[in-house]
Amino acid sequence: MFTLPDLPYAYNALEPYIDKRTMQIHHDKHHGAYVKNLNDALAGQDALLSMSIEALMGSLASVPDAVRTKVRNNGGGHYNHSVFWTVMAPNAGGRPSGAIAKAVDENFGNFEKFQELFAAAAMGRFGSGWAWLVVDPSTSSGQGLKVEDSANQDNPLMEGRIPILGLDVWEHAYYLKYQNLRAEYIKNWWYVVNWMEVERRYKEAVQFG
Ligand code: MN
Repeated sequence: MFTLPDLPYAYNALEPYIDKRTMQIHHDKHHGAYVKNLNDALAGQDALLSMSIEALMGSLASVPDAVRTKVRNNGGGHYNHSVFWTVMAPNAGGRPSGAIAKAVDENFGNFEKFQELFAAAAMGRFGSGWAWLVVDPSTSSGQGLKVEDSANQDNPLMEGRIPILGLDVWEHAYYLKYQNLRAEYIKNWWYVVNWMEVERRYKEAVQFG
């Protein structure tokens, strides 16, 4: 069975950039529903229910046809939000440091160019979806970084790339506070990005590369 992870901070911890009410509904109701619907879709499929969510995302072809779309949508929703909560933190934001800062500079030129690319991916995603920073094993080094976006609850793991930072641009992520102003939400989101966690995910992704 899959379970809803606790938020690693209080609902109001990301104020004023992300409001308490949005975090309550987003975590408890939206993420909660993805977990419930994923477990319901896989009822009786003990082997699939015992996989990690990361492994399941890379194994959608092995999911029975009848429930594959449900597992893709709700499993994606579970994985994506599990990443999202951890790559944000109170008293965070600013510039990355250490290995991830070096990798960002090497792959994108500098941090500001990366931010521009990432914000453009987040703004350019029509309708609901996500923007991602990923480690792409198909690059010549096996460890190259790329910015991409995905529709709905799809994610890069489904295509063999490893997300290390993700931004939810579904309206449920920002509409209570920002209404239609996705660009304002994206601009303010940088103040809560948890670069320590992004670096941890980066190191984990490249250690066998
Ligand atoms: Mn969401």
